Amino acid sequence: MQMNGMNIKPVTVILLVLLLVGFYYYYYYYYYLSQYRFNVPPCPTSCSTSEPKDRVPDVIPTDYVFHLKTPDHLQYSQPSIVKGRTDVVAVTPWLAPIVWEGTFNPVLLDSIYKQKKINIAVTVFAVGKYIMFLKNFLETAEKHFFVSFNVHIYVFTDRPKEVPKVNMAPGRQLTVRSVPSSNRWQEISARRMELIQKLIEEQLRKHSDYIFCLDVDSQFHSRWGTESLGGLVAVIHPGYYLDDRGKFPYERRPESRAYVAHGEGDFYYCGGAFGGLLQEVFLLANTCRSNFEEDAKNGIEAAWQEESHLNRYMWINKPSKVLSPEYLWQDFKPRNPEVKTIRFSGVIKNYAAIRPNV
Ligand code: UDP
Repeated sequence: MQMNGMNIKPVTVILLVLLLVGFYYYYYYYYYLSQYRFNVPPCPTSCSTSEPKDRVPDVIPTDYVFHLKTPDHLQYSQPSIVKGRTDVVAVTPWLAPIVWEGTFNPVLLDSIYKQKKINIAVTVFAVGKYIMFLKNFLETAEKHFFVSFNVHIYVFTDRPKEVPKVNMAPGRQLTVRSVPSSNRWQEISARRMELIQKLIEEQLRKHSDYIFCLDVDSQFHSRWGTESLGGLVAVIHPGYYLDDRGKFPYERRPESRAYVAHGEGDFYYCGGAFGGLLQEVFLLANTCRSNFEEDAKNGIEAAWQEESHLNRYMWINKPSKVLSPEYLWQDFKPRNPEVKTIRFSGVIKNYAAIRPNV
């Protein structure tokens, strides 16, 4: 072949074309497509990669939440796939674990997560007279909630001066955030999602890996730890888990954004305890908040406010870990035989005396 007087062999042309095609594919796959294929959320604060925290990495991260690394020679009892709890179901139909006493090894789990140096944020609202529950909540959390891990509790209250002083172990701290008081408990309950979303956006993004949002009128009785960690974590309500789903107190009016029809839904989850990775809880809070606001525009308030919206959300967006009712029992309820240990429970309270309205 003659080109500008040069004598180029066909085999050279073919090689050049192949080289160009190769360059094109390399660029297309590794630079263009990778931003979609590996669009993982920002790395947790403890992540070992050198990527800046708020940048989407363009390579697969190696030490992310899914990588469960144990210390060498860690001693623990042998796991079995044929012996274990037979009185409860420990996995959902979408294959998320349901956490019950006897289904996990705390030594093993703690060893895995200790290495990751995770930071756990907690939100708790103590508005109006609910401030009276805060001391017991904080004191029992010190004894049982993620003991020896980094925990940062954010208290939202209209009475910052009444926040009790509680001794906290190293690595654990408390921050008070002022919020306005309200004449309606429904509004206090409903506003939580908005404030959780803002906290994640403004404060936690750079500091925390996981977040748990808990009711203040509650207390810890025994371990609540690393076994509860997951992407999106829901707790099964102790009042309904033996019932047919037709009896669950979901929002049943189709006009509401929290609507769940009869014959639909999985479990009835608590509004008083939920959590997971920051990015998952951010999505949940954002969605529940905007659905709540949309309902308000249409003059409708879901039967159980944020709990109804949370249940609708968790039905569509399945939790990746489900905590059994051990993780939110009710003190007025005798313990059922399958509940071997109560970890966290709602205290007995006189609604008429503590709520701003009936
Ligand atoms: N709450 C509050 N002040 C109120 C009402 C509610 O701080 O006057 C917060 C508090 O954190 C409480 C949560 O909202 O734990 C849920 O409210 P409540 O316990 O009354 O609802 P329940 O679970 O009893 O339906």
